[in-house]
Amino acid sequence: LELALRLSLRLRISVTVLLGVLLALALMAVGLVIESRREVTRFIVRDLEQRNDIIYALVRGDHEMIVLYRRTENRIIRRHLMHLAQDYLNLCRVGYAAVRQGKWTDRQAQAAVRSVLLAQKIGRTGYPFVWDVTHYPPQAVWGYLDFPPRIVLAVHPKIQGEDVGYVPFVPRGAALRQGYMEYWWANPGEPEPRAKAVGLAYFAPWHWVIAASAYKSEFAFLVQPNFYRTNRLNLIQTIASLRVGRNGYAFIIDRRGRVLPHPRLAGKGRISPADVKAILTHPGRRGRLTIRRRGRRELLFWQRFSPYGWTIVTAIPRGESLGVPLATVTRTGLLVSLVVAVLFLPLLVLLVHRDVIAPLRRLARITNQVAVGDFEVDTRVTRYDDEVAELGWAVAQMAAQLEGMVVRLSQSEEGYRRLYAESHKTSQMYRSLLDASPDPIAVYDMTGHPTYLNPSFSRVFGWTLDELRGRAIPFVPEANRPETEEMIDQVRRGISFSGRETRRFTKSGQIIDVSISGATYNDPEGRPLGSVIILRDITEGRRLEKQLIQAQKMEAVGTLAGGLAHDFNNLLTGILGNLDLMARNLAPDDPLLKPIRAADKAASRAADLTGQLLTFGRRAPERFHAVSVTASVEETAQILRETVDRRITISTRLAEKLPLVLSDEAQLGQLVMNLCLNARDAVMEAMDERSADYRPEIVVQVETAEVDERYCADHHYARPGTHLCLSVIDNGTGMDVETQAHIFEPFFTTKEVGKGTGLGMSMVYGLVKQMAGWITFETEPGAGSRFDVFLPLAREHPRPEAEEFAEAGLPGGRETVLLVDDEEFVRDLGRTILTELGYRVLLAGDGAEALEVYRARGDEIDLVILDLTMPRLSGRQVMTEILKDRPGALIVISSGFSDETRESDLTSLGAAAFIPKPYRLDHLARVVRRVLDSRA
Ligand code: ADP
Ligand code: MG
Repeated sequence: LELALRLSLRLRISVTVLLGVLLALALMAVGLVIESRREVTRFIVRDLEQRNDIIYALVRGDHEMIVLYRRTENRIIRRHLMHLAQDYLNLCRVGYAAVRQGKWTDRQAQAAVRSVLLAQKIGRTGYPFVWDVTHYPPQAVWGYLDFPPRIVLAVHPKIQGEDVGYVPFVPRGAALRQGYMEYWWANPGEPEPRAKAVGLAYFAPWHWVIAASAYKSEFAFLVQPNFYRTNRLNLIQTIASLRVGRNGYAFIIDRRGRVLPHPRLAGKGRISPADVKAILTHPGRRGRLTIRRRGRRELLFWQRFSPYGWTIVTAIPRGESLGVPLATVTRTGLLVSLVVAVLFLPLLVLLVHRDVIAPLRRLARITNQVAVGDFEVDTRVTRYDDEVAELGWAVAQMAAQLEGMVVRLSQSEEGYRRLYAESHKTSQMYRSLLDASPDPIAVYDMTGHPTYLNPSFSRVFGWTLDELRGRAIPFVPEANRPETEEMIDQVRRGISFSGRETRRFTKSGQIIDVSISGATYNDPEGRPLGSVIILRDITEGRRLEKQLIQAQKMEAVGTLAGGLAHDFNNLLTGILGNLDLMARNLAPDDPLLKPIRAADKAASRAADLTGQLLTFGRRAPERFHAVSVTASVEETAQILRETVDRRITISTRLAEKLPLVLSDEAQLGQLVMNLCLNARDAVMEAMDERSADYRPEIVVQVETAEVDERYCADHHYARPGTHLCLSVIDNGTGMDVETQAHIFEPFFTTKEVGKGTGLGMSMVYGLVKQMAGWITFETEPGAGSRFDVFLPLAREHPRPEAEEFAEAGLPGGRETVLLVDDEEFVRDLGRTILTELGYRVLLAGDGAEALEVYRARGDEIDLVILDLTMPRLSGRQVMTEILKDRPGALIVISSGFSDETRESDLTSLGAAAFIPKPYRLDHLARVVRRVLDSRA
């Protein structure tokens, strides 16, 4: 069909016509076949009948010949036997002549005749016999009704003289006396009676009936031996060899239903008994029948030949009967049709071409022109006024209409295109707005299935829309289901919400904190279409927030502790200074000296504690310079190895050539020591709890670490760049969550009273902060802890000159010193000490006052000791002002903590020295003297 559609019209018409012609031919042929079939059948039947008749005539001829033959044969037998009887009669006459001549008695003569006759044989089994019929037939004599003939002579001597009246043919023969007679007889030992013939003669003197008898069949040889059998066989063979038509044949069925021998009908080819029976039981003398033999149909014609009891049958295969003439008929028919078709086809094609195809082609050309927009066309396609012409006219009409339409269309198309472009642009823009959103956005339909997920959604949650199509997003943790359902319900009812915080699963199974906003969206008619949900990932924010809170907490605690310690420090300065003064003014053997020393010792310890607290609050004075962490670690490890339990392995892993950090040896040592002591406590505790094969171990490790921006984004306190990472790792008890939360807080300890102060980690924290670094830890209860301290590298910070104090005596002087401090007792202590040392002392209670005094009496003042933290004007400001007025003025900064100011900074600003609070008598004396001396 497809091929047909692709063919040109001309070809299609040609093919159609050809097919039509062929169809007509086929129909014609079928008609012919049907008609000829009937004719052929009739013809064949007639042929069969004629053949049959011929065979019938053959058989009848044979029969007539046989009948004739029989008649001749009978006459010969009859004459022969009668002749013999006559001969025997003559024999009797000869014997009787001797009796008449008196040579023999009757008895003698009869015996002679009898002996001669007994020696006679007729044919193969024939013989003479003689009856005595003296009283036969009975005369009208009363009492002699029964006088049967008696045997005078027979083949068997035993039956000599026997009465044979009971034998059926005997009375007939006795009555006849002479002549010829036939009867049915079986000799003893023979199964069936056969026709027997007898020639009779009568010898009156002795009343003898003399018979010459023989089986008739035994005379056949007289004529021609085996005549009948040969003849019959010949006949049957002849018929069997006859051929009817091309493949037909003839055969005989005898009276007992046997098909007489026929080569075609032997074995598998035999006629079925049912068919034979059908023929035999048919009441008519002739008939017709179709049978099946060897799977093929055969037409049979038969007629009976009653003298033989035969049915003569002629048969021919039905296919042949039709085939031969039909083939001829078909061939002729086809030939004629073909000739007709060949003659007419070009004519037809020509006609179709001229009247249909050519105009159609013209039409096609015109349509093509119209199609490309050329509407000025000549639409006359044919000179006839037919359908094609009408089509041409219609095309012309169409072209005109089309022209108008094209104009209108191009106008509206332009409009539509613009509209489409605009709406496309708009929808693209909305789409890209959603796509660009850094927050995940999901759009749901009314059934709760997502219809849009923006790229941020896939980035944060891992799913793409394709993966979820047709199902709900499986990201609500069980615990958050109720609130989520409430949100869904709310948005279904058209109430939007925003900033609701909950949790969601990502595709990888991670739980993240989200802030959800949602609203329904409607179609232009205001019907709800679904909902749009914005999920902001606030996990990171939450984490940073926590870090920040922690930092703020530490800061607050630091401020608190630092402030407290600062005040405390001032107090201790007072106590210690005064104790020093006291001790100085007592004789070496004064009994008060002992309690004063004890008080000094206690106050010193208090000062240590305060110092630690100050370190945590980052208010301890800093004296930082480039220091080697490795050295500190090695030193600390050495001390530890000597002091801690022998079972604990303390190992160090120190990278080679590590850079220096900005710190102070003492503080760095404290840091390492604190971490190690905690580690020791942890492993010791673990040793108590764990089995014997537990190997307590502490590792101290130092290496450089590159901190990148990503790390800093996660850890807000971190700074990028190369750092030194000091790690203390133990396999001790580890820490629970509670401990982790409070570990850096001052006075937080999990150890029993007296063992822990809770200040170790706070100091570490403060120290690390002071070094502008940070500390992190990893721990797991029962598995150990690891603390990592990140310290920035030192750039250029040479170690300050070591302060050397003369061992003997306290240096004093006569110079004038201005002591500025807002704490009265510090002022008092300072004045007492300095006065003791011989100096003249001026005092100021705050920065403003200090400036006033300095401006008024600046010339007298050789040195200013300046507290940094003061109300109104800070020490730093005062220093700047003084140096402005008088560059080169000697200023010593004294402070309990450095605030964010480092010693080096102060030095660079112009300070001559720095004295940490609480200052001791000797320290103050030495620093003041050194600074004053340095002027020269
Ligand atoms: P202290 O050691 O005096 O208790 P710290 O400030 O040094 O005080 O430590 C605070 C608490 O932190 C300790 O009591 C302990 O519970 C915990 N801690 C510190 N370091 C470790 C560590 N390495 N292993 C286990 N717990 C530790
Ligand atoms: Mg500790």
